Amino acid sequence: MQHRIIVLGAGYTGATAAGRLAKRLTSDDVAITLVNAEPDFVERVRMHQLAVGQDLEPRPFSEMFAGTGVELKLARVTGIDVDRKTVTVTVTDTHDGNGGSDASEPTTEELAYDTLVYALGSGWNDQGVPGTVEHAHEIASRPGALRLRDRLARLTAGEHVVVVGGGLTGLEAATEIAEARPDLAVALAARGGLGDWLAPKGRRHLRKVVDKLSITVHENVHVTAVDADRVATADGTSIPAAVTVWTTGFAVHPIAKATALEVTDRGQIVVDRTMRSVSHPDVYAVGDAAMAMGPGDKPLRMSCASGVPTAWQAADAIAARLTGAKLPKVAARYFNQCISLGRKEGLIQYVTADDRAVRAALTGRTAAVYKELVCKGAAWGVANPTLMMPSRRRRVVAEGTRTGAAAVKAPA
Ligand SMILES: Cc1cc2nc3c(=O)[nH]c(=O)nc-3n(C[C@H](O)[C@H](O)[C@H](O)COP(=O)(O)OP(=O)(O)OC[C@H]3O[C@@H](n4cnc5c(N)ncnc54)[C@H](O)[C@@H]3O)c2cc1C
Repeated sequence: MQHRIIVLGAGYTGATAAGRLAKRLTSDDVAITLVNAEPDFVERVRMHQLAVGQDLEPRPFSEMFAGTGVELKLARVTGIDVDRKTVTVTVTDTHDGNGGSDASEPTTEELAYDTLVYALGSGWNDQGVPGTVEHAHEIASRPGALRLRDRLARLTAGEHVVVVGGGLTGLEAATEIAEARPDLAVALAARGGLGDWLAPKGRRHLRKVVDKLSITVHENVHVTAVDADRVATADGTSIPAAVTVWTTGFAVHPIAKATALEVTDRGQIVVDRTMRSVSHPDVYAVGDAAMAMGPGDKPLRMSCASGVPTAWQAADAIAARLTGAKLPKVAARYFNQCISLGRKEGLIQYVTADDRAVRAALTGRTAAVYKELVCKGAAWGVANPTLMMPSRRRRVVAEGTRTGAAAVKAPA
């Protein structure tokens, strides 16, 4: 009997976990199914680039996972029953790279698992601000970025674009749009000061680039409503906006919250250091969907930078527990924040293990090249999950004979 591992979501972390599991275990012992709604890998870290008209390299899963032993299931997850250990999916297309044929109508299926890896990621977070859903654009997803791309292409010179959110995604979006469309009036609305978490060198560089790109910066503003042609702020002023781009953080999908899993108020699955659910030991969660603690007992922020190590940790822990090997410890720590500021400029802010800025920063074109390499490396790592690591396939051992770490159960 094969042990059935289902990985939900083939973003940076789910795809990494599935590939790594396939390298750690043999297909005689385990059946690994990777469920994803879309047939291509989406480089979410490049959605601002897609939005301004750049074309991204197509990355079909059927090619990425060919010959790996991972079975790809193109389906939308609609529910999970963690007590019955089943996942309900709507099959959107049976052209799944596994010899499936056309389906005219979507069908519902139930998939049974022995171990589940939950990696459904996140989407945009409208924060419940009135008018955002109706009028704002998002770049947390490919459909959102493509809608914005279409809208930006129809804007004429002098029209106003406001990016709301002064975090990493907002900075990348505002600079990318301003660089690609110097004819538009681009503004950034930030709740704090511009890049106020950066060290002085990084802050100075950011200000210089933003000025060079003629981006108007509204600092310390709280946007309270979005309209079709403006955003309103708490101090009673309004900022003209033919297009509003909303980048105030990410929100997880509601699927986990609807289960018996222990989740946070925001719906992230609470996991231990091995990414195992603290309430259901058969379930692991990785990436944006997980509430995992990092260095200094601070929650990891939603990012590829910390998400990918959580996928390594989950895959290695699952393999260790199934094979009776020593439970591994993968360090999820930060080294730098890599920020693209358009295609020609960048900022690499070095940070402590728990993500606080230190003095050193890399700026300018070198930083832009560095960031590009990081993005390329992240996509390459998904397709090559045992990056710089030999393949070590181990045999699964019978449940009763698993010893040491393998027998450790997460607290109920
Ligand atoms: C514009 C932008 C720039 C960013 N830049 C950076 C950066 O520079 N550095 C950094 O570290 N992070 C960056 N991030 C954050 C980073 O992209 C996310 O943290 C990362 O993608 C999370 O990975 P994940 O695997 O958890 O989720 P995702 O990458 O979101 O993957 C989730 C997968 O699940 C699938 N899915 C979702 N719901 C369902 C469902 N119901 N059924 C089936 N499949 C489903 C999705 O299609 C997707 O394939 C950026 C994000 C954005 C939007």
